[in-house]
Parts: sequence; C-alpha cells; structure tokens
Amino acid sequence: MANSRFEYVKNFEQPDTLLPNTWIVVRIDGRGFTKLCARYGFEKPNDRRALDLMNAAAKAVMGDVTDITIAYGVSDEFSFVFHKSCTMFERRASKLVSTIVSTFTAYYVYLWSTYFPDTPLAPPLPSFDGRAVCYPSVQNLRDYMSWRQADCHINNLYNTTFWALIQLGGMEAKEAEKFLAGTLAKDKNEILFSRFKINYNNEPESLKKGSVLFRDYELVEPGSQPVDHADGGFGEPAQQSKTQIENDKKRRAKAKVVVEHLDIIKDDFWERRPWLLS
Ligand code: ATP
Ligand code: ATP
Ligand code: MG
Ligand code: MG
Ligand code: MG
Ligand code: MG
Ligand code: MG
Repeated sequence: MANSRFEYVKNFEQPDTLLPNTWIVVRIDGRGFTKLCARYGFEKPNDRRALDLMNAAAKAVMGDVTDITIAYGVSDEFSFVFHKSCTMFERRASKLVSTIVSTFTAYYVYLWSTYFPDTPLAPPLPSFDGRAVCYPSVQNLRDYMSWRQADCHINNLYNTTFWALIQLGGMEAKEAEKFLAGTLAKDKNEILFSRFKINYNNEPESLKKGSVLFRDYELVEPGSQPVDHADGGFGEPAQQSKTQIENDKKRRAKAKVVVEHLDIIKDDFWERRPWLLS
C-alpha cells in the first residue's frame, strides 16, 4: 500500500539484522579523546573524574536498556553485551548501535558537570563511535571480554610507566617512548620499582582491571551449581517454563546495576554469577 510515489526509496534500505541466537557486543569508543584529554585537562595517565563519568554514563545506559546483560569499560571505551536471546529492534545492527551511542553520549554530556564542575563543556564536544559484533558461543564472548581486560592491563602498565618517566623522572615524551620501546611487562615493573619505588601490584584495581557493570543478583558459591557450557552456548536453558524465564527476566531487569573492578578472565567471576551467561 504505497502512500506516495516517493515511497519506493524505502527499498534502498539494506537489511542489517544480526545473526540470531548470538551474543551481541556493542563497543563504543571516544572520538579523538587524545585531543579531548588535552582540551579538558585530564590528569595523566588516569583521570579519576573521567573514568567515573564513563562508568556513570554506562550505568545509566544499562538502566535505560534492560536487554544489556553486562558491560565492560576501560579508558574511553565501553562494551555492552546483549543476551543472545535479545530481540530489541529485531536485532538490527544500526538501530542497536546508534541507540547505545546516542544514549551514552547524552548521559556523558548530561553528567559532565557532576564530574567536572569547574570545566564547562564547549565545542569540541565529546562524541563516540560504535560497532556491533556477534559472538556465537559463551567461550567466544568470554574471550572477547578477556581480550579487552588484558588490553586494559597492558595499556595501563605502559601508561603508568611512561608517565612516571615524564612526571617523576623528568623525561621528554619522545625520550620516554624510546626508552620503553621493546620492553616487556617485567621490565616495566622493574623500572617502576627501581626508579620510582612504585609497586605496580599496589596500583588501584580500578585502573588495573577496568570496570565491570552488571545487574547484581544472588551470588552462587563456586561448586554449588556447576555452569554447563557443554552445549557451547547454543542450547536452551535447562527445562525452564516460559513463565519462569519471563519472571527471571523481569527480576534481572529490576536488579541494581553495580560497578566492580573484578577479574573477568578467570572462571570465578562467571561461576559465581551463572545468570549472566544463562
Ligand atoms: P580515536 O578517535 O581513533 O578513538 P583517540 O584519540 O580517542 O582516537 P584511543 O585509542 O581511543 O584514541 O585512546 C584514547 C586516549 O584517551 C588514550 O590516550 C587514553 O590514555 C586517553 N584517556 C581515556 N580516558 C582517560 C582518562 N580517564 N584519563 C586520562 N586519559 C584518558
Ligand atoms: P520510535 O522509537 O519507534 O521512533 P517514536 O515514538 O519516536 O517511536 P516516531 O514514529 O519516530 O515514533 O514518531 C515521533 C513522534 O514524535 C510523532 O508522534 C511526532 O508527531 C512526534 N514529534 C516529533 N517531533 C515533534 C515536534 N517537534 N512537535 C510535536 N511532536 C513531535
Ligand atoms: Mg576509535
Ligand atoms: Mg578513542
Ligand atoms: Mg579508546
Ligand atoms: Mg520518527
Ligand atoms: Mg522516533
């Protein structure tokens, strides 16, 4: 039923429905934050206010979009995980990504003055890009999360050492970069300790681990309820009725979103929170 002779242009739209029954990760990343850091005087290597603002905006997104199961943030990026059963926007990638990016950006700007009361926003303003990727198994999804957290660790160790050489060691940026070229993790740990008496292990967990946001539910003691991933993440939840699943979904949606700085590479985090991946 054509409403006008112009309506045929609708047919030029390309379908972008994401593969069904896969975990959808939407990762957003600050555009040109290297410049933005300088513009707004972020402390180096880690500005606490900016990190808290990222977490607050992500928490608000999770409050608005209850299909998100878990989120992981580091630096100027955040990964939002949609449950494999998610049907929001018929799983259309552009709709999902644009909604997350704009909701996040809106909260980031709205909450800015809470975290930077003395530095008002003016153009150039913060903006974010985004992408969606599907992961077919729980193992793939966990490897994705592990990849981001491992990256957080590698970058934070580098940045901590790089900025110590500049701020405490009086080096120029170029000099520090050259000094660190080719060094391994253990070398950086050694530089930090021998030169600056900094034990990297004692750095805050929030900087070493990044931020994990999830709906707090009932913790499960490890061993009491083994998580069965034998189906590789493709199977249906074990013999739950439709109403049971619906009720569980509602309870989860209502649960409080918490911000933690935990290890998500090891099994323990996931074994204690089986609802995240079930
Ligand atoms: P692009 O648009 O390609 O993403 P970018 O300049 O944002 O470019 P990234 O690779 O995303 O590049 O790096 C983000 C930069 O912002 C890094 O240099 C990182 O150290 C810095 N940054 C992000 N958050 C903070 C923070 N809380 N405190 C200090 N620096 C930060
Ligand atoms: P969806 O999330 O699916 O887009 P929606 O409620 O935004 O849902 P739209 O089809 O986008 O639905 O319609 C936007 C609605 O907002 C319409 O009812 C439109 O009349 C109203 N609207 C938009 N701009 C204005 C405006 N400037 N003044 C009054 N009403 C407006
Ligand atoms: Mg980018
Ligand atoms: Mg960036
Ligand atoms: Mg980045
Ligand atoms: Mg409209
Ligand atoms: Mg609309």
